[in-house]
Amino acid sequence: MAFRVFNSMSGKKEDFKPADPTNVRVYNCGPTVYNYNHIGNFRSYMSIDLLRRSLLFFGYGVEQTTNITDVEDKIIANAAKQGKKIQDFTEPYIKIFLEDISYLGIQEVEHRPRATTSIPAMIDLMKRLEEHGHLYTQDGDVYFRLRSFEDYGKLSHISPEQLKVAAGGRFTADEYSKEDIRDFALWKKQETPDEPAWDSPWGKGRPGWHLECSAMIREIYGEGGVDIHAGGIDLLFPHHENEIAQSCCAYRGENFARYWVHNEHLLVDGKKMSKSVGNYFTLRDFSEKDKLELLIKEGRAPADLLKLHEKQKMQRALRYLLLSTHYRSRLNFTFENLRSSDAAIERIQTCLDKLLLQTPLSDEVKTRFKKGKLETADSIFKETVFAEAMAAFRTALEDDLNIARALAAVFDAVSAVNAGKLTESICKEGVLFFYAVNQIIDVLEFTNPESREVVAQDLGDLESFVVSKIEERLKARAEKNWKRSDEIRDELKAKGILLKDSAQGTTWEKA
Ligand SMILES: [Zn+2]
Repeated sequence: MAFRVFNSMSGKKEDFKPADPTNVRVYNCGPTVYNYNHIGNFRSYMSIDLLRRSLLFFGYGVEQTTNITDVEDKIIANAAKQGKKIQDFTEPYIKIFLEDISYLGIQEVEHRPRATTSIPAMIDLMKRLEEHGHLYTQDGDVYFRLRSFEDYGKLSHISPEQLKVAAGGRFTADEYSKEDIRDFALWKKQETPDEPAWDSPWGKGRPGWHLECSAMIREIYGEGGVDIHAGGIDLLFPHHENEIAQSCCAYRGENFARYWVHNEHLLVDGKKMSKSVGNYFTLRDFSEKDKLELLIKEGRAPADLLKLHEKQKMQRALRYLLLSTHYRSRLNFTFENLRSSDAAIERIQTCLDKLLLQTPLSDEVKTRFKKGKLETADSIFKETVFAEAMAAFRTALEDDLNIARALAAVFDAVSAVNAGKLTESICKEGVLFFYAVNQIIDVLEFTNPESREVVAQDLGDLESFVVSKIEERLKARAEKNWKRSDEIRDELKAKGILLKDSAQGTTWEKA
């Protein structure tokens, strides 16, 4: 079986046939950087990361783009309030976003263009729209003439009549002087001299939000467009519908996006997240211990969640929770689900640790993987339990990324290992099996379980453990990976080891 993916355009699962399997082109809409992203945003980035990792696991090459919207009405308003230039205002939020992505283990993408550096590509797109009669100017603002594109609504399956109702309901308030209520802004004129603006054939102004994705896809991928365009279901209409209209009208007859992949919402306690209900959470509310302590103080989170921080398990629990529900189902974020995510990982890790004690992770296992793909054929597993579990894991992912079913296959393997005898081949193949699974889930530890346990008691082993950690930290620092460096320091601190840096090097002591 090969990969099948649900295409919102056709409304059904389709065989995945990329233009070039060695270079699958993926685009997903990125963050607007004016505040901290909430956990629902990260559910979306996590779904797309699952897609990316699965494509790599299946043996495809991937070239992915996630944009950063760094000019937009809210950014301009908030920057002005703080008396800052928009670049100075957005820079810290871009940094925070990238840190959050990396905290969750979401893989780095190939391209991360910013709206403010893609303005020429946007202007080029608008010129083409003008040539073909798809845009008009009204009071200095530039609009897309929607009735000039008869395929509008094909993705969202909304009729022109429904569209008028939707547009009337949602967009009348802030719009003015358009030919048609459904038309959307491509370019907004500069209202005051201190508003950020760029020169264009239609006067000084700034791009509308929809424009950037269309322009960036063209700029990065050229005439071929992308194989997969992904994003949250909330972006399907009108944002993605508008992207299609712009790209199809500007670059007539050329491909824009072949598969449209949308992930469902995240709910908190079964309800839509909202600040007024008090169930609105950013990732940092959980990933940072002091922010969690504040939530607990306010009575918005239970105190026992702090244990996840103390045991260094918050990161993996958050990752697992955001990952483990099928992307087209709503994900219910609850504290209970956070605890059970931790318990689920613990169950796999405990089984894996038994195997690692007999057969430590070898370089041979690592070299079997190239870019997340198991190099050898599936028949590599002679033990039936792993051969079957690996086939089921892969088949589930091939079926529209059914991660819930893939995880069920992993737990079947865990049960079988726990019930059976730990032979040499079970241990050897087991480590390889979990290493393969971890290319997707990325929550398992492959270090020597004894060195993890021993820290509390045995000073002899403690020495070599701490020295190896100090070496790892030195390497991270040499690579200017300050985040990793700090992580190692914190990890040791949590185990009661304090590091001291000086000109002579790093020394350590027990607290
Ligand atoms: Zn977009």
